Amino acid sequence: MPSSHPQSVAVNAALEVIGDVEPRIATAIAAELTDQRASLKLIASENYASPAVLLAMGNWLSDKYAEGTVGHRFYAGCRNVDTVEGIAAEHARALFGAEHAYVQPHSGIDANLVAFWAVLAQRVEAPALTGVGVRHVDKLGDEDWQALRHELGNQRMLGMSLDAGGHLTHGARSNISGKLFDLYSYGTDPATGLIDYDALRRTAHEVEPLIILGGYSAYPRKVDFRVLREIADEVGATLMVDMAHFAGLVASGQFSGDFDPVRHAHIVTTTTHKSLRGPRGGMVLCDAELAPYVDRGCPMVLGGPMPHVMAAKAVALAEARRPEFRDYGARVLANAAAIAEGLSRRGATLVTGGTDNHLVLIDVGGYGLTGRQAEQALLDAGIVTNRNSIPSDPNGPWYTSGIRIGTPALTTRGLTTDDMDRIAELIHTVLDATEPGTADDGTRSPARYRLDPALAEKVATQAGELLAGYPLYPDVVLG
Ligand SMILES: *Cc1c(COP(=O)(O)O)cnc(C)c1O
Repeated sequence: MPSSHPQSVAVNAALEVIGDVEPRIATAIAAELTDQRASLKLIASENYASPAVLLAMGNWLSDKYAEGTVGHRFYAGCRNVDTVEGIAAEHARALFGAEHAYVQPHSGIDANLVAFWAVLAQRVEAPALTGVGVRHVDKLGDEDWQALRHELGNQRMLGMSLDAGGHLTHGARSNISGKLFDLYSYGTDPATGLIDYDALRRTAHEVEPLIILGGYSAYPRKVDFRVLREIADEVGATLMVDMAHFAGLVASGQFSGDFDPVRHAHIVTTTTHKSLRGPRGGMVLCDAELAPYVDRGCPMVLGGPMPHVMAAKAVALAEARRPEFRDYGARVLANAAAIAEGLSRRGATLVTGGTDNHLVLIDVGGYGLTGRQAEQALLDAGIVTNRNSIPSDPNGPWYTSGIRIGTPALTTRGLTTDDMDRIAELIHTVLDATEPGTADDGTRSPARYRLDPALAEKVATQAGELLAGYPLYPDVVLG
């Protein structure tokens, strides 16, 4: 059925132009929309960007090289990229109340690399702190670099451990952050599942790290950044917060005061595509002192920026400054609370007993399952989640014992707290009905499971009915 809505016209025209060159790609793009419309997406790190954000990426801004910063580029002809980057940074500063915003990082990991090097470079240039020398980092000679490498090898970072909910880039051994820094980690109290601030303070005093890194990917609670800053100041550390997961909750004013990282940290990194609902990318916010170091993200660790993505960031940040986005943040939290309540009431075990952010971590050991079994069984029933480690996970990082669920995507779609209770019912029904399977040699398998296909199909049908009430991209009708 043809639609004259501008979104439909734009999408169908784009698919036609793409299809003329490589029809399989046009088909895959259309199929992705169909798949996303049909899926009950509870992945805590995903969202649905607006058509305006998506369309801002498909154009010739992509063709420009623009290494450098606004007004100071290594390439000619960057007038319009300057405009785009300037507007994105302006929105970011205003939205988060930051002194400086650097919108070039291509992803969350890139934003963290930029931040790490900015903090290191700042220390290198402060001779009292390192002894390497006062010279501008761009002018360091070979000997300086050797000394610097030695210095960097000795740098300590204190980040949240992976199994307590920290991210790979917060010092995991398999990530460059774990090699760049001499890593120490903090975790959660085994009894409550909450961050143990006293233990963190003790470790910080023992270790005297260069960086204390706050933020998480799988911790279902708010973090008191005022206390983290206090600890950082006590030991002379730089407080860095990676708000990749919850930037949308900060932007919407839901995490304010002690829970607003921008207010307390020296430097804050984020993705732009998770709860912030923008294009896939990253961003760094910092105080004026760190700004000149952050602005050297390119050429330090980044190549040319992606001007088309910066344009989409500007559009998303403009959206996030609207009153509707405040309401969105409130609904994300209300929905997470509702799903946690619905699960608990039916007998699920939740890490920390509940949530006060956008995510819930189910300890599926309570159902006698591994995370991997639970994830697959839920998927069979049309419910898309991801398995995740829980603190002191008995099943290790591959099979895990947790299922992480989040509400940013379904909230964008319009689902309400009543719907969340129904989803909790569906999740509980599936997990309760799933039984661990056995390996070929008769031992317990961490991957295999048994779930009655008729029950899985029934739940999938119910999930589909729930979604049918909330069309995704309702103004886009594929021709
Ligand atoms: C998702 C995430 C990242 C990485 O973002 P990418 O864009 O995938 O590189 C970094 N830090 C945290 C805390 C995250 O949750």
